[in-house]
Amino acid sequence: MYFGSVRFFKHILLLLVAVVVAGLIALVVWQSAEVKRLSAELDGLKVEVATESDKPDTETEAETSANGFITTTPTETEAETTTAEPEPVSIGKYDLLYPELYADLPNNAAYDSDDNHIYLTFDDGPSDNTMSILSILDKYNVKATFFVVPQDTDEDAELMKAIVGRGHTIGVHSLTHNYNTIYKDTESFLEDFNAAYEIIYRRTGVKPVLFRFPGGSINDFNTTTIDDIITEMTRRGFIYFDWNCQSNDSDGANWTSMYYGVTSQIDVNKRSVVLFHDRNDCDNTVFVLEDIVLYFINNKDYVFSELKPTTTPLHF
Ligand SMILES: [Zn+2]
Repeated sequence: MYFGSVRFFKHILLLLVAVVVAGLIALVVWQSAEVKRLSAELDGLKVEVATESDKPDTETEAETSANGFITTTPTETEAETTTAEPEPVSIGKYDLLYPELYADLPNNAAYDSDDNHIYLTFDDGPSDNTMSILSILDKYNVKATFFVVPQDTDEDAELMKAIVGRGHTIGVHSLTHNYNTIYKDTESFLEDFNAAYEIIYRRTGVKPVLFRFPGGSINDFNTTTIDDIITEMTRRGFIYFDWNCQSNDSDGANWTSMYYGVTSQIDVNKRSVVLFHDRNDCDNTVFVLEDIVLYFINNKDYVFSELKPTTTPLHF
């Protein structure tokens, strides 16, 4: 009889062992699959975390691009530094002085090409000679530049308006023209410059961009201070011009000396910035001006022009 026999129980035992072994195998297989699934989930989370931490970079880049200053994509370190510690806004040593005193520059940063150009400049005006100078310039439709030392009077205001109204450039020279005062330090220079600038703007409506240092950018009074003054004036957008042609009118030069001196210098220059003075004691300037203008209008292929912010600066 099979049922209840020893053989029967042996088979039952074998069957149980087989079931247990199969169960164990199934368990191992399931666990292995579970480990794989969890591992895959973990990888997914890592990708998400990585994407999140990339976001600040992207935002920084987008922001910077919107402001138009980006040239390269910031590295991870740079981006982290920017996000964590924004750079403090540094205040320059002269930033708090005359906060309105900045030049309005044109968007076009390119300089004009100006070979054979003659830039007549008149310093120290307005004066009793201003209207005579303007009449001569008008007669030949010559535009020039006046670096003024303005007094806050109606008389000077009318003369400055005439300069501007006839299409010439008005620039700042000085209020006091006192070398010892203005070249003492940058604060003193700014104080003098701002006072002159303010009178010109209030009286003519023009905000000057160009200026000329009294005595030129290199003189005996500013050797220790000029570098700092130029740095500050340039930071504010102002442009200065020296000269490469002297008339020596302020030294009392006569007609002959001025005529031959100025024309011969212009002849050898590629372009010329000519220094004249618009002063009561410089009558010879008025006497010689028309003859010098005629010399180049009649005999040479030259162009007279006023100085502009787009004129290549001329420095000593
Ligand atoms: Zn001067």
